[in-house]
Amino acid sequence: MLNPEQIEARLEQILLKVERPGRYVGGEINSVVKDWSRTAVKVALVFPDIYDIGVSNVGLKILYDQINQREDALAERAYAPWPDMEAVMRTRGIPLYSLESKHALTGFDLIGFSLPYETLYTNTLNILDLAGIPVRSADRGDTHPIIIAGGHAATNPEPMHAFIDAFVIGEGEEVIHEILEVVKRHKTQGAGREETLIALAHLRGVYVPKYYQVHYMDDGTVAGVETLVEGIANPVIKRIVAQLPPPPTRFIVPNIDVVHNRVSVEIMRGCTRGCRFCQAGMITRPVRERSVDEIVEAAEAAVNATGFEELALLSLSSSDFSYVVELVNKISEKFKGRKLTVSLPSLRIESVSIDLMDKLREHYSGGFTLAPEAATERMRRIINKFIPDEEIINTTREIYRRGWTSVKLYFMIGHPSETLDDVKAIAELCKRVISEGRKVAGMKVKLHAGVSTFVPKPQTPFQWVSVDTRESILAKQELLKQELRDRNIKLSWVEPEDTLLEAWLSRGDRRLAEVIFSAWKNGTKFDAWNEHRKTQAWLDAFVEHGLDPAFYTHRQRRTDEIFPWDHISAAVRKNFLFQDFRQSLEGKIRVDCRLNCFACGILPAFANMRRENPGETWKCPEVKSPGTVKPAISRIGTGEEVISDTAISNQLPVIGD
Ligand code: SF4
Repeated sequence: MLNPEQIEARLEQILLKVERPGRYVGGEINSVVKDWSRTAVKVALVFPDIYDIGVSNVGLKILYDQINQREDALAERAYAPWPDMEAVMRTRGIPLYSLESKHALTGFDLIGFSLPYETLYTNTLNILDLAGIPVRSADRGDTHPIIIAGGHAATNPEPMHAFIDAFVIGEGEEVIHEILEVVKRHKTQGAGREETLIALAHLRGVYVPKYYQVHYMDDGTVAGVETLVEGIANPVIKRIVAQLPPPPTRFIVPNIDVVHNRVSVEIMRGCTRGCRFCQAGMITRPVRERSVDEIVEAAEAAVNATGFEELALLSLSSSDFSYVVELVNKISEKFKGRKLTVSLPSLRIESVSIDLMDKLREHYSGGFTLAPEAATERMRRIINKFIPDEEIINTTREIYRRGWTSVKLYFMIGHPSETLDDVKAIAELCKRVISEGRKVAGMKVKLHAGVSTFVPKPQTPFQWVSVDTRESILAKQELLKQELRDRNIKLSWVEPEDTLLEAWLSRGDRRLAEVIFSAWKNGTKFDAWNEHRKTQAWLDAFVEHGLDPAFYTHRQRRTDEIFPWDHISAAVRKNFLFQDFRQSLEGKIRVDCRLNCFACGILPAFANMRRENPGETWKCPEVKSPGTVKPAISRIGTGEEVISDTAISNQLPVIGD
């Protein structure tokens, strides 16, 4: 294994020969370099995409802070090198190394991958290989690091079960410390890999796939999942934190321009809106908010520590934050006269948003994005995102009136019950928006329609439905291209091949692991990048392993089917999801569950935690005494879950950057 000095010496010879060498040198402001020899547990945190994207990842930043606050542990970072750098590294025998100390990844005790989306899977294999670590868990021995992973893609970890030793299900802030304790104890005792993995498998929220055996039916669906070690959880229920810990403030300041040169402060976690297609909204429940003062103080500390001139206030639905107006007011006061722009991704608009727009005028950056997702009442009812056209028109008109010349609208096509009329309505709505915008702001107004394609994700009410076919997706996209020819309307879409890949990987079972391995061997990597798309390599990998991709995507699931991810629980009950799916088929929508709890399963799973944390920080009902989750259950079946038309008109569209 090369030592850091040897790695640095080789880097010096090559860095000027690759594109953007600043990606590979480290030494950024706020990076943490600890004394390697005096620190007991060493963790490499890896974002398996390029530095320019990964360096701003908030999830890894939180873990970086949590670990580095401990005296007995250090966290360093690594990212996927771009192919030019990878080629040189392989030629010169440079293993993947950490940016902080330039230690090879093989020298760490633990390597933690962030997997927010599935198209990072082949990069994960490539990184392990480039680090000189056996790609398959089964081939690793006592001297190799333990490979863990977490993030939204771990909602269905099965396709990656052969490569990752242990998955963290849910939030990592607390469980990372328990993992570090296990690793430290076993390292001190000289315990072997097996012993360490068994101890990890006993931690709540940690899934070690090798201790679970999947059985299949003759038709290829899952018959059941058996635990091979006594005392480990089945299902593995996600971890959450009762209160969000203080947000990190010492953000890394990259030496090069990256995608997000900004401070990000998470204002709340979770979402109560219940959009049926939204996996994040389902798996990040319950909603927990930070206080306004904590957010403002963190924002100030972070801006001072970095010199960044942009602040992003993050959440899945920012205007649902209970004190959003107060927050914006305080941010405006705090940064009055200072050069700072604020972005509020995923801000839902109602009347208060006009107010917000006015307040943000001095500091707001970028354009506005509304996400109506659908353009007919029928589709809006199906997906449980009801935003009347008039609401969208009024909101966009106000945005244009206030001087913003461009608005972005996000739509989604591809739900199995969608017709071409539903798609055509998208184009008609876009034309209305631009026409109304011209009335208040003239011919300069622009519209960007971003049209993605629906993937029925695990742990959502749509997990039973199939994915649209390639031909149908293409026909719908062609219709939009024909209809949206106004030169001030820009249309962007997702290629069907990308949608299908995401669907295979997110809905797959353990057999997909061999497909991923072969696809990587066939040269796939950077699957999230258009220029690296290699669909044929994926199709060849399916053929090689005798699997039909359509089995995973174009098949309506049986109502009683056991899904490959059923032994992983986001604490939202399958029955609740199925009930919601049935309501979707009937065109019924559900209100924001802050107004009416639908007993999704969160409270029974975390009753003690909620009882110990009463009050308004959580948006779920309080739990008064042991075993009581009354507010969550009592209203179910009363019909209250079906929203009235008056209530519908009070629903808010989404706006953000
Ligand atoms: S327990 Fe009730 S309020 Fe809490 S997330 Fe579930 S449905 Fe919403």
